[in-house]
Amino acid sequence: MDWTRGHTIGHGSSAAVSVAKSRFSDDVFAVKSVELSQSHFLQKEQKILSKLSSPYIVTYKGYDVTKESDKLMFNLMMEYMPDGTLFDETRKQGGRINEPLIGYYTKQILEGLEDIHTRGIVHCDIKGQNILLGKTGAKIADFGCARCVDLAERDGSAEPIGGTPMFMAPEVARGEEQSCSADIWALGCTIIEMATGRSPWTNVTNPASLLYKIAFSGQSPEIPKFLSLQAKDFLSKCLRRDAKERWTAKQLLKHPFLEESNSNSTKKQDFVTSSPTSILDQDIWNSVEESETINSTIQTVSSMDCPFQRVRKLGVNSGKPNWCWDDDIWTTVRNTSEQNEGVDDKVACGTKTAISESHEMELESCFGSEELEINCLDNIFCCNIGAVQKSSVISSLTFPRHLTYSVNKIQCS
Ligand code: ATP
Repeated sequence: MDWTRGHTIGHGSSAAVSVAKSRFSDDVFAVKSVELSQSHFLQKEQKILSKLSSPYIVTYKGYDVTKESDKLMFNLMMEYMPDGTLFDETRKQGGRINEPLIGYYTKQILEGLEDIHTRGIVHCDIKGQNILLGKTGAKIADFGCARCVDLAERDGSAEPIGGTPMFMAPEVARGEEQSCSADIWALGCTIIEMATGRSPWTNVTNPASLLYKIAFSGQSPEIPKFLSLQAKDFLSKCLRRDAKERWTAKQLLKHPFLEESNSNSTKKQDFVTSSPTSILDQDIWNSVEESETINSTIQTVSSMDCPFQRVRKLGVNSGKPNWCWDDDIWTTVRNTSEQNEGVDDKVACGTKTAISESHEMELESCFGSEELEINCLDNIFCCNIGAVQKSSVISSLTFPRHLTYSVNKIQCS
């Protein structure tokens, strides 16, 4: 395909997306590009997207390799979605989307999920930023983390986990499995994001303690109190901690919440007018959230949330007292910016890692006790995120087992 690159319309953690125009027609499309040498995930995305065809999934238009400024670029072409992401839309709607509109988008995302799940594909990174909007509503995009469950089961390969910690299901955060039900959990988190304009988990200071909380706390994200009973029930079916108890996309499509939300209309415009327009509406929501925030702050400062106690507790509960400390598990953060100079970027990681009293002190003297956060997820990793917080520009840390951990996202190679 012969085409011209236009302006950049988006940036993700791995690629840049531009608008593009065909040289021989008026066709306008979107091109997601990355240097060929770093295009592993984009090529994987291309393979998966090229197999899909659904009105609820961004349409694949081809791929090519170009030479630009002496660099070889891998380009994935897809339909251009002019109305931005669902995350952007939440902001446009005053930080919160009204319930009928939530139902409208949720139904479309679920239709897309049902389609890919039927084909044995798990998206693995459902969130508002990966749902694109256009004339016909919402479509699922960004298949960079997607995986084929059947393939992994057939050849016995344990595919590594991937996705965005904030939206990860408990079994994914524990590194156990990532199947279709993990997408349903992420959908539940996305609905909370639409309803509240906030992350599904609040009062979590860093990705490692977030993962720990999701994996082992026994909690699910809080369901907003102001939602209708139907919506709350729907969310509770998405956010069941036991993946086997979570409803499937097919089951959820028949849930009364969606029937009700979409009984009279299929167009977004029909729902927008009922979005919160008065300051009073906004105040009611704020007051609910403020009291929730105060309560959760009190919980957060309770002694059981001290990282060391959590680690010790994990040691006791896991029944694995023989953890060992190995100096070799220190590894250095892979810096991507000169701004990181001078930052002590040590990260402790490994499996079955124990933090003894003396190591606590050693680490505290390195980073200062206030910044010290240690989380041991058995068989996942253990790290000091204090260093990460100090240098917010870091884009990724390298862990053993080829687990690349970025501040917002985990991907495995
Ligand atoms: P991530 O950080 O989630 O891995 P990424 O590098 O895979 O991101 P995408 O999420 O696919 O990149 O795209 C980045 C941004 O580009 C999106 O948030 C969106 O704003 C924009 N974008 C992507 N695809 C399209 C499209 N088809 N039409 C319009 N805008 C798009």
